[in-house]
Amino acid sequence: MLVRQRQHREVEVIADVVCDRCGQSCVNREVWGAPESVEDATTIAEVATFEAHWGYGSHHDGERWLAHLCEACAEAVREFIDTGAGAGVMVSS
Ligand SMILES: [Zn+2]
Repeated sequence: MLVRQRQHREVEVIADVVCDRCGQSCVNREVWGAPESVEDATTIAEVATFEAHWGYGSHHDGERWLAHLCEACAEAVREFIDTGAGAGVMVSS
């Protein structure tokens, strides 16, 4: 038997994902509504995650870099890579 009771708990939710480059929200509020209506914004954000793990021998040994970028900023990064020395690194599907 399941014994149910009503409880009021305070929970922490991810209400938004903010671009680390431009500071804008990565959630399209015209589609998804106000931040209060979202339990986990990571599921609806249009966000690119760039991550780097620096290994032994690098100048950043042991560091981990993580950036969340909105679609426009991710496109800018992709354009930078595609037109720079890293041309051909990005893979599109
Ligand atoms: Zn951005």
